[in-house]
Amino acid sequence: MLGGLQIYTSVGIGLSVYPDDTDQMQTLVSYADLAMYRAKSKGHNNFHYYTDDLNTVACEWMELENGMRYALQRNELFLVYQPQIHLPTGRLVGVEALVRWRHPEKGFISPDRFIPIAEQSQLIIKLGIWCLGVVGRQIKKWDAEGVHVPRVSVNISAKHLSSRQIIDDINCMRKIYNIDGDRLGIELTEHALIENVSTIQLILDEINQSGTFLSLDDFGTGYSSLGYLKQLPVNELKIDRSFIHDIADAASDIAIVKAIIVLGKTLGMTVCAEGVETIEQLSTLKSLECDHIQGYLIAKPMPADEIKNWLASYSGV
Ligand code: C2E
Ligand code: CA
Ligand code: CA
Repeated sequence: MLGGLQIYTSVGIGLSVYPDDTDQMQTLVSYADLAMYRAKSKGHNNFHYYTDDLNTVACEWMELENGMRYALQRNELFLVYQPQIHLPTGRLVGVEALVRWRHPEKGFISPDRFIPIAEQSQLIIKLGIWCLGVVGRQIKKWDAEGVHVPRVSVNISAKHLSSRQIIDDINCMRKIYNIDGDRLGIELTEHALIENVSTIQLILDEINQSGTFLSLDDFGTGYSSLGYLKQLPVNELKIDRSFIHDIADAASDIAIVKAIIVLGKTLGMTVCAEGVETIEQLSTLKSLECDHIQGYLIAKPMPADEIKNWLASYSGV
């Protein structure tokens, strides 16, 4: 307990062994450090022994981290947008903005590889601010072209959220591009809520006042306290796609998804299923009265200029 607040901590342990790994003390410690980062990347409360391949991975990591610093300046990053659909009516409720990196030499690099690297430094905040700016400009562009996209959601990292700076970044973007109400959404992972509970609550309350639509991403994979969830101004739960994958035939996954849908509705939130790939998954979700869906079955993430054509050819679910 710190100042009346309950603080949760976890450990990540890296191990290197003398003299098998090295007989140099400095190197031994830096190997343990590398192993610790690997342990942390596996999630909370893990340990990892040093192995030689960690050195290769660390070099690649540094290379990508350096590359990312330039990627923003050199216009190597761009956003793609994936539609989110209201399941009962089939109408478009919004799109999720997802970042892409086209590296001049390495080609296309998946966000699953570079986001964790950006998250280790302030780069993730720069990326968040950049995304907000691009999205603000894009909403105005779509409006001017008569393309009706009700809402655009941006993924925001836990680090950015807990910095308070996010409030200014959102307000600033709204002002510059004249974006009001829930035309802007942000997606936060459940993990973002575990750390700094009271600070996060204040920040979310403030963000919510501007009408920003808040979605809790990858829901079901974290450990959010249900008591805490009800106090937060969350508008939507996004069920992680790992639960959707086998939903058409695995009884346990159906039970989990059903429980999340009931939980969300009871707390006055909408529920969105992500990673919907098949008609069978869609039918099951319909029968469970899930509100929104997103996935390859409806559309893959696409560049901004393709949304117009997609909307023209889209005939509902
Ligand atoms: P996420 O927020 O859970 O995003 C959904 C991911 O699922 C996206 O992968 C999307 O392309 C993929 N997806 C959508 N529909 C389907 C489907 O039907 N089947 C399958 N198998 N996959 C589907 P993507 O774009 O590779 O992004 C991966 C993760 O990277 C995202 O997961 C998010 O955590 C992170 N990310 C992406 N863009 C950003 C960003 O701009 N900022 C931050 N902070 N994180 C981002
Ligand atoms: Ca997301
Ligand atoms: Ca997700």
